Amino acid sequence: MLDSVQLHDLTFTPYLSARQIQERVQELGRQIAEDYAGKRPLFIGILNGAFLFMADLARACPIEADFAFVRLSSYEGTSSTGSVKTMIGLREPVEGRHLILVEDIIDTGQTLHAFLPELARQKPASVKVAALLSKPQARKVAFEAEYTGFEIPNEFVVGYGLDYNELGRNLPDIYSLAASTLP
Ligand code: 5GP
Ligand code: MG
Ligand code: MG
Repeated sequence: MLDSVQLHDLTFTPYLSARQIQERVQELGRQIAEDYAGKRPLFIGILNGAFLFMADLARACPIEADFAFVRLSSYEGTSSTGSVKTMIGLREPVEGRHLILVEDIIDTGQTLHAFLPELARQKPASVKVAALLSKPQARKVAFEAEYTGFEIPNEFVVGYGLDYNELGRNLPDIYSLAASTLP
């Protein structure tokens, strides 16, 4: 049984175990490998939140592929600021490439709503999104990822790349502010 964790002023309870996460990431990797066999996709991880998901998804997807990262920002504390800034742009040319954006979580949908048109201007062959987590009830703009690990309720979560004011990213499990769901 996992213990709760304290980050800054908040206590988080166990929500998804490292094992549950790994099993689902393996499934997503297999599915993407099937869908993109022979296409050499370019995975674009969105930093910082997606760094662990990207690393595990990459190893779960045994096909020829390229990997790159961008850094975007829309969050402060536990709520979205609503404005999205590109912090570090993409250096790799994406024209004609099959892109798979790798996100830790889709919440309001605003980050990808702002970033996808920016990418589309560079004329990729295709763009799909792989998100480890999705909070469908939190959407402010309609958005669905093609590959989603887990749909979760509208609760703030940390761990496995996700932070609370920069703490908690290195936790192997995912924790929630809501009541515990693990035995
Ligand atoms: P958006 O609201 O634009 O869909 O999500 C923007 C970003 O906010 C996500 O990629 C993620 O980095 C962060 N975010 C959204 N929900 C949560 C959450 O529950 N916990 C944490 N730690 N970050 C979140
Ligand atoms: Mg993110
Ligand atoms: Mg954050």
